[in-house]
Amino acid sequence: MKHCFHYILTGKINTYYSEGAELRAKELKILLERAAPFLEDSLKVKIGVTMAAVTAKEWAFLLDKPYGLPTMRFGACKRSSTRLPEVKYAAIMPGAVNGPIYNGWIELKDSLSPSTLKKLAEAGVAFEQGGKILIDFVGLHELGHAYANAFGLKNYVNFFAEFITNYLAYAFLRSTEERLDKKVMAILSANVDGITPIHSSLKKWEGFRSAEHPPTETWYNSIITLKAAEIYEQRGFEFLYAVRKAFPEEEGKLNTETIIARLDSIHPGIFKWSENLSKKIPQNTSLIIHDSTLLKVKALNTPFLKKDIDVYYSAGYKKRGKKVQSLIQDAMRFYRKP
Ligand SMILES: [Zn+2]
Repeated sequence: MKHCFHYILTGKINTYYSEGAELRAKELKILLERAAPFLEDSLKVKIGVTMAAVTAKEWAFLLDKPYGLPTMRFGACKRSSTRLPEVKYAAIMPGAVNGPIYNGWIELKDSLSPSTLKKLAEAGVAFEQGGKILIDFVGLHELGHAYANAFGLKNYVNFFAEFITNYLAYAFLRSTEERLDKKVMAILSANVDGITPIHSSLKKWEGFRSAEHPPTETWYNSIITLKAAEIYEQRGFEFLYAVRKAFPEEEGKLNTETIIARLDSIHPGIFKWSENLSKKIPQNTSLIIHDSTLLKVKALNTPFLKKDIDVYYSAGYKKRGKKVQSLIQDAMRFYRKP
């Protein structure tokens, strides 16, 4: 069977889309074409970016990660170099707003506090709408990866790459006349409020892949974007020029600790912020009980605290969580006996 993409090659973003994804492709194209000139002016670079809106059926022909987790590819796609032209920057987006990011948002509803729901309402976000706004944000995030690369910022570790690109995505949203940043920030704050990640340390994020637990990836991206927004409000693009100057090393040559220390010297407070982050989830004796079908994992619920071992569990796993906790509790008591 032959798979071909339809395409729109006019305008700033060359756009490819699967059968049935035309409307979503056009919508994304309009959004990215608003952001691209702003980023080009601010970073003083000019690049060509391709975007593909791909349906679930064709996703697997292009990428080796689960459907719906968007990505920015530098160069040809892993599985095929013939289905899309060889371009330097290709943003691969789901051809509809479905997928784990959207589902993750919808499943969050019961975990949100009344004050978070109120903030969403105040920002003008009807709950279901939030999932789409979140994926649009991820689209801008992917575009940001291309511009960060063209600007000369290298990929070292998850935290650095994601922080920079979220900084760029936020900068664009903040620049819009209708203040698109307000809705997005309310949604990202809701993610931080409602999701319990499986860990909360930028160091642990280093070896983590989004497919392991998409809500954790969403949580990290949300909380670092809140920080990026705070810095952007104070420093604007000047911060990114300072970062570029301070990070001359080749790709992959720096670890998270070095990066945080160096960022802290450019913008004091980042180190302390990262330390506080790792206190959000206890790093010692905690156990996570979750669904074995990872993509269906719901936002992890509050742990059973104040015992020797904290247990986090997915929706529907409370009973199992309690059972395992008491088992470990017994074992701990046994080992403590003189
Ligand atoms: Zn990314």
